Amino acid sequence: MITAQRVLKAAGKHVTRTALTVRAKLGAQANRHCPACGGAVVGFFRYGDNSEWGCPLCGASPRERLVNYLISRGGLVVPQGGAILHMAPNEGSLVEKFRSKAGEYVPADIDPSRYPVPGVRRVDLMNIGERDHFDLFYASHVMEHVPDAAHVLRQIYDALKPGAEAWLLVPLWDKPTEEGAPGMTPQEREKRYGQWDHVRQYGLDFADHIRAAGFEVELLRAEDCPPGDVSLMALDDVIFCARKPASVR
Ligand SMILES: [Zn+2]
Repeated sequence: MITAQRVLKAAGKHVTRTALTVRAKLGAQANRHCPACGGAVVGFFRYGDNSEWGCPLCGASPRERLVNYLISRGGLVVPQGGAILHMAPNEGSLVEKFRSKAGEYVPADIDPSRYPVPGVRRVDLMNIGERDHFDLFYASHVMEHVPDAAHVLRQIYDALKPGAEAWLLVPLWDKPTEEGAPGMTPQEREKRYGQWDHVRQYGLDFADHIRAAGFEVELLRAEDCPPGDVSLMALDDVIFCARKPASVR
C-alpha cells in the first residue's frame, strides 16, 4: 500500500542520497565506512527520522551495517558449512555472506516474488515444517508481520538444531510490546505502528517473548559497541540473539 507517509520518506531519501553523491564528486572526504559493502563514504543518507540511515553506495541500513560489523568482529558467527534459513532476504550483503559460508542456504519468504534473489523458497513461518535442521535462522523486520508471534517463535525453535541461533531484529519503540487488536484497519496500524501491515509493535520485552519459547537470549546493541566504531559506521539498532539450548529440549 502506498501512503503519503511512505512517499515523503522515499522522497527525502532520494534527495539526501543525491546530495551525498554530489558531495563525494566534489571531493568531500570519504572518512566514514560501510561494513556492509566495505566502501568509504562521505556520510549516510536520511530516511524518516534517522539522519544517518543508508549507505550511499550499497543502500545498507543501520541494522544491516550492525549485523555485518558484528560478523566482522566475531560478535556473531555465521556457521561454516551449516544450514541457514534467511527470511525476507532483501539485505544483499547478508545474502552474499550467508550463501558463501552455508552448506545449505535457504532464502525464503511467504511471498518469494518480492525478492530478486535466486532460489527464494516459499516458507510460511506459521508452519515451517522442519525439526532440528537449521544452524542459523535470520529474520529482520519479519516478526511484526506474523499473525501469531508466540507460535512462530516455537516453530523457529523446533526448526533449529540444539545449540543453533536465531538472529531476530524488529522495529522497536521505548514502551512495552503492544499487540494490535484483530480488527485494526491498515490506516490505524500505520498511524500507531508506522506501517500498514505491522500487526504489533515491539519493545525491548521482545526478549521475554523469545525466552518464553525456550530460547536463551542475548541483546547485541549498537550502543554497546566501541563509540569510535558506532560513529564511523553510523551503527544503530538491537539484535536479539536467541540460542536453542544445546542439551535440554
Ligand atoms: Zn555500503
